Amino acid sequence: MFNPKSLNAEEFINHQEILDTLDYAEKNKNNIELIEQILEKAKPRKTERGVECSGLSHREASVLLACENKEMIEKMYNLAKEIKQAFYGNRIVMFAPLYLSNYCVNKCVYCPYHIQNKEIPRKKLTQDEVRQEVIALQDMGHKRLAIESGEDPVNNPIEYILDCIKTIYSIKHKNGEIRRVNVNIAATTVENYRKLKDAGIGTYILFQETYHKETYEKLHPAGPKHNYNYHTEAMDRAMEGGIDDVGLGVLFGLDLYKYEFAGLLMHAEHLEAVHGVGPHTISVPRVKRASDIDPNVFDNSIDDDTFAKIIACIRIAVPYTGMIISTRENEECRNKALALGVSQISGGSRTSVGGYAGYSAEERPHDTEQFDVSDQRSLDEVVKWLMELGYIPSFCTACYREGRTGDRFMSLCKTGQIQNCCHPNALMTLQEYLEDYAAPDTKTIGEDLIIREMENVSNPKVKEIAKNNLENIKNGKRDFRF
Ligand code: SAM
Repeated sequence: MFNPKSLNAEEFINHQEILDTLDYAEKNKNNIELIEQILEKAKPRKTERGVECSGLSHREASVLLACENKEMIEKMYNLAKEIKQAFYGNRIVMFAPLYLSNYCVNKCVYCPYHIQNKEIPRKKLTQDEVRQEVIALQDMGHKRLAIESGEDPVNNPIEYILDCIKTIYSIKHKNGEIRRVNVNIAATTVENYRKLKDAGIGTYILFQETYHKETYEKLHPAGPKHNYNYHTEAMDRAMEGGIDDVGLGVLFGLDLYKYEFAGLLMHAEHLEAVHGVGPHTISVPRVKRASDIDPNVFDNSIDDDTFAKIIACIRIAVPYTGMIISTRENEECRNKALALGVSQISGGSRTSVGGYAGYSAEERPHDTEQFDVSDQRSLDEVVKWLMELGYIPSFCTACYREGRTGDRFMSLCKTGQIQNCCHPNALMTLQEYLEDYAAPDTKTIGEDLIIREMENVSNPKVKEIAKNNLENIKNGKRDFRF
């Protein structure tokens, strides 16, 4: 039985409800009147508290995703852009992945870290190597990391992950520091989530891979990850352990995208129903080529147009949730995704264990790599590109450190208020980046952008503080943190 409030995965991601949803969506995919109504419902509205959006249920959003009418799809894209602008403005949050260990006891058939892959060298960073990687990432200009690891209770126990987090936060190299560590490790216990919370992590990210239970069990034939319910209920345990920012995601290509989309939204509805706060982020990875992995064997791969439509529909359905796209995607695809709703991207990424320290921007070690990276530009190239497209690359982590997480973040975001502090903070962190790390032409473009964007800061008090801070940053003062 479908029950979003249940703590049982098979009730909140109910297979029959997904089938009924897909059937309803298919029957209504050309129902222009209904589609118009759904789009109208999802529009941002001005209220006394600011701008608000209602979002959509998984059924409503599935109708949008199924729609094949060109005019309606155009309307959908325009609405997605409007919602993105209302809640995220033109800021794009920057981050990089840091791979700690590729030891893994699972058998995920799409992942090169699977235990039977004898081709891939196994590597786990020592604390000294973590230090070197973090210094290299700080020297690029990163302030926010997502740590990644295979699942192996012997080689990568929770104590190892906690040690790495401690090391990462402890390193202050020149003006660099990592201010937010997000964590993408396998589903674990409430007790371990509590330990991660105490270690000061930002978002706990766990991709569902596929919401389809039967497919899930086939694709994870052995190892702890085989247990669909344990994996799907992980976010509830994370929240019970005190982590209130959680990141969902589906690995597109494994099962039918319409099924995954409905499941993803049902998961978001479940978190909201049970914990009063939806997912902080949603990631949209697609299966990539990797050691021992041929993406063509997964016959549910989606083309770029469908991918764009999924992104727009997520943006409309869950307007307050950040959306992440990684360097799995190339420049052109990322460009489209940014316009339609993505709010966070990685830059200069290495998906190998120990891929940063000792390598130039052009060199990339492939031996321990998790997947082939399509966007191979350096962080500085990505920052420059974003600014040329009119975006503000943001290195801000202030919300997290000011305690604006979970429902506190959401209530600010829901009324559009997050813009009042995010916009100036983004500009200040960009100024830090320009002073400390940017190439000369990136710096010139960035400084012009900051001058223009400061005109859009309407609150005189905020403007005064921001101006002072920008001046201080230019004069080398770093006695504040964003
Ligand atoms: N071991 C953790 C887990 O099981 O959730 C962390 C996961 S892994 C380091 C991060 C993500 O990479 C996975 O959740 C999966 O979705 C994705 N991934 C694995 N193989 C991939 C591939 N061949 N192409 C693209 N993404 C892949």
